[in-house]
Amino acid sequence: MGYSAAFHCVAGCEGSYPLDTVIYACPKCGELLEVLHDIEALRDRSADEWKQLFDARWMTRHWPYGSGVWGKKEWVQPHLRDENIVSTAEGGTNLFWAERYGAGLGLDDVWIKNCGNSHTGSFKDLGMTVLVSTVRQMISDGKPIRAIACASTGDTSAALAAYCAAAGIPSVVLLPKGKVTTAQLVQPLANGAQVCALDTDFDGCMALVRKLAEEEGIYLANSMNSLRLEGQKTVAMEIVQQFEWRVPDWVIIPGGNLGNVSALGAGFTMMYQLGLIDRKPRICVAQAQQANPLYRAYQQGWDTFEPITAGQTEASAIRIGNPVSVRRAIRALEAYDGVVEQASEAELAEASAAADRTGTYTCPHTGVALAALEKLAARGEIRKSDRVVVVSTANGLKFTQFKIRYHEGTIPGVQSRHPNRPVELPNDLDAVKRAVLGGLD
Ligand SMILES: *Cc1c(COP(=O)(O)O)cnc(C)c1O
Ligand SMILES: [Zn+2]
Repeated sequence: MGYSAAFHCVAGCEGSYPLDTVIYACPKCGELLEVLHDIEALRDRSADEWKQLFDARWMTRHWPYGSGVWGKKEWVQPHLRDENIVSTAEGGTNLFWAERYGAGLGLDDVWIKNCGNSHTGSFKDLGMTVLVSTVRQMISDGKPIRAIACASTGDTSAALAAYCAAAGIPSVVLLPKGKVTTAQLVQPLANGAQVCALDTDFDGCMALVRKLAEEEGIYLANSMNSLRLEGQKTVAMEIVQQFEWRVPDWVIIPGGNLGNVSALGAGFTMMYQLGLIDRKPRICVAQAQQANPLYRAYQQGWDTFEPITAGQTEASAIRIGNPVSVRRAIRALEAYDGVVEQASEAELAEASAAADRTGTYTCPHTGVALAALEKLAARGEIRKSDRVVVVSTANGLKFTQFKIRYHEGTIPGVQSRHPNRPVELPNDLDAVKRAVLGGLD
């Protein structure tokens, strides 16, 4: 099995670099790198043989192949020796049929891919397992790596800290002070990361960590490092696999730094190239109105892209004004007949709450994607029978204050149309009966 993959310049400069090279940008033009696989080598199995292999490994106990990522190892990081894999059995997350929520929008076939039902509570686990495993192999091969560092809006640092702790590798996290949730701050602390809470925003942390990574032995874990995207692209493969290898009509995904939509596109493209699918979905990136540089560029027909300073949003993980992967994302959207939508604070909060009323527990970023779904459905761009998958990026349990404030009606600019509050009562049966039975009328 001579499978192989290497880093290449996204702008097409010549040259390829092994995946265990410490390199984040093209030495010729400074653009990002992407991982390209030897597709010809992967043709040694037919499309049906790949499907059978992936189905046989799905949730198996045969370590590490029961992981949603490592079950597709040949397509993700073929150079890893199994003993170096740092896995928490990531992936394989539930695809939830949002029957009642969809019906409320006049849609029959809406699904939510719950990527937040994962070890550290977000899709970031899918990418971090690939990055940390590769670094572990580099260390065992004698490369002088002392720590892995990232800037984070909360979920990247939680994933980095957990995988590093599992591997025994030091981790360093740069967070914008006061701009991540309590849960997201505690996660890397609990896992023993060195956490620096900085007096800036995410884009400021990003600029600093890039400088920090110029120091000898500090390896950069942000998504300009495209190893992570190789793991994240398995979400496209899982969605199709969970529909018995059928392609949905639409995938809606919230976007900040825009690595995840790039990965989603890459996953579909690989399946298409290797014949596992014969049609493409349309992709919608959903942005918070407060942090919408991609939406603005889309409105201008992609003519110009202007970074912005992102404003305050409940969707804190996508509060990014200068996304690293913007070029890759635009390329993916062009290949998938893509659209970009945006959601105001009121729209994201109401969409999240409306979906929760039908049995989900959605994070604010998923709320942004749901609000985009509502707009596309209202415009008739998504039709009743279309199969739609909304990628839910994090677990709602990380965003307790968002939920509490919504139900208390204290989020600025949000009316809270579906509030629900506890009824406080004395320890008295009659009072309980009056409250409960009265409430059922
Ligand atoms: C990281 C993250 C995103 C955004 O992903 P990008 O690749 O930066 O576009 C969205 N939602 C959540 C919960 C995240 O943690
Ligand atoms: Zn280049």
